[in-house]
Amino acid sequence: MTVLAAPDAQPKASLYINGVAVEGQGAELAVHYPYTGEVIASLREASTAQVAEATAAAAAAQPAWAALRPIERGRVLIRAAQIIRERAEELALLETMDTGKPIQETRVADWPSGADALEYFGGLAATVTGQMIPLGGDFVYTIREALGVCAGIGAWNYPSQIACWKAAPALVMGNAMVFKPSEETPLGVLKLAEILTEAGLPAGIFNVVQGRGAVGAALVTDPLVAKVSLTGSVATGQKVYAAAAEGMRHVTMELGGKSPLVIFDDASLEDAVGAAILANFYSSGQICSNGTRVFVQEGILPAFLERLSQRLESVKIGDPLDEDTQHGPIVSPVQAGKIRAAIAKGEAEGARLVCGGQGEGAFVPPTVFADAGDEMFIVREEIFGPVMSVLSFADEAEVVARANASPYGLAAGVFTRDLARGHRMAAALQAGTTWINAYNLTPVEAPFGGVKLSGFGRENSAAAIEHYSQLKSVYVATGGVDAPY
Ligand code: NDP
Repeated sequence: MTVLAAPDAQPKASLYINGVAVEGQGAELAVHYPYTGEVIASLREASTAQVAEATAAAAAAQPAWAALRPIERGRVLIRAAQIIRERAEELALLETMDTGKPIQETRVADWPSGADALEYFGGLAATVTGQMIPLGGDFVYTIREALGVCAGIGAWNYPSQIACWKAAPALVMGNAMVFKPSEETPLGVLKLAEILTEAGLPAGIFNVVQGRGAVGAALVTDPLVAKVSLTGSVATGQKVYAAAAEGMRHVTMELGGKSPLVIFDDASLEDAVGAAILANFYSSGQICSNGTRVFVQEGILPAFLERLSQRLESVKIGDPLDEDTQHGPIVSPVQAGKIRAAIAKGEAEGARLVCGGQGEGAFVPPTVFADAGDEMFIVREEIFGPVMSVLSFADEAEVVARANASPYGLAAGVFTRDLARGHRMAAALQAGTTWINAYNLTPVEAPFGGVKLSGFGRENSAAAIEHYSQLKSVYVATGGVDAPY
């Protein structure tokens, strides 16, 4: 067991505006280490005037950035990805302090995925072209233009990855961005701002403001903002979408879910159990796309529950800076309280607690409910914690109907050795992403986003480019103008 030393988490200043770290003028924002509750940094929120200052800096800098050759913009992002990889350990440690997630995870998942996005979109930059539409003499060509100033608003579960996933496509298309991280996890994005500057990003193109929801709300309705990309809950998404509509702003909404993971009796049991574990307990269950409704075909249900319980016995819960720790604390006491209330509801509604339960202090252990019913709170509502509900089903038609009977549609998974059935299920399940014999893999090459209440728009992949640009048509006449009078 090696417990790593906690790094100094206090940033130079709370905000980053026009290429410079500046102190906030708003209310104090204490940053707590989720494991101990100790205050590890003290920040200040942005004042309303500072939000306006950030969008003004972005608006002033954006035209010159958009006028560069795309390959030059891409080069800056690729350099930033290199710097992130060079500082991987320092950044992983800070992410662990900010989120409480085990160092085992932050080393491989958070910043590395952010660096992938910067690299991917950096490389894609020069490949974005328009269309030429022949009209028999005359013709039209299209230009994919920047939107202008984009607002990014992030959740607390993958703060640095979310910032990179939004910044990379936005910046590469010639936009500027003002980003507001969750008040729970404000630290990583300040590092991203510094790294982008070091990589050669002009001042004003990536700015950071801090604050609670009110600062986010001020950003969304700022007259200079043309687009809002939010990662957060459905409730916040509904507010932000409505507020953005007033200015006809573009939106990307990456929201919550209650995703189904369907396991057929011909699946590899060991792989299915492993996937159910990853789909529910990675990052202490604080993942939007988690497969929290695990539908197991009735014949294999006892064997599935037995093997799942066995494997969960060996999970190492504890200090996130201990390299052996696999399951860390919940991000905040408020969130832990919500998870515990949901577990209590599950028991009160008659679901059978197979393992886990309330836990203590900052920790909620991996918790599995069996004999869960579709109407129960724990099966309907996103808990955003390590709580799996196991349901049994008889056949394909039944499980498709029950899996789709949810207002959410972020993701879905299916385990079967019958690949024809796997593809049939993938087509039938209402979800933005469906995995066959895998779960929660989100490579930057693949589009990611939800359907139904889980959101709108796609992050990652070439599809994201469309959400950070608009099309202009240019009609070119090659003959005379034939006016009727
Ligand atoms: P919240 O919806 O509470 O907050 C998201 C962000 O929005 C935060 O930065 C928050 O600020 C800000 N915010 C809150 N109110 C407003 C407002 N009125 N206007 C503008 N901004 C506002 O989500 P959580 O941080 O609790 O994150 C958990 C949720 O995020 C879960 O539902 C999860 O499923 C979802 N999520 C979705 C992902 C996806 O890609 N689909 C990925 C990760 C998470 P503050 O926190 O400072 O109040």
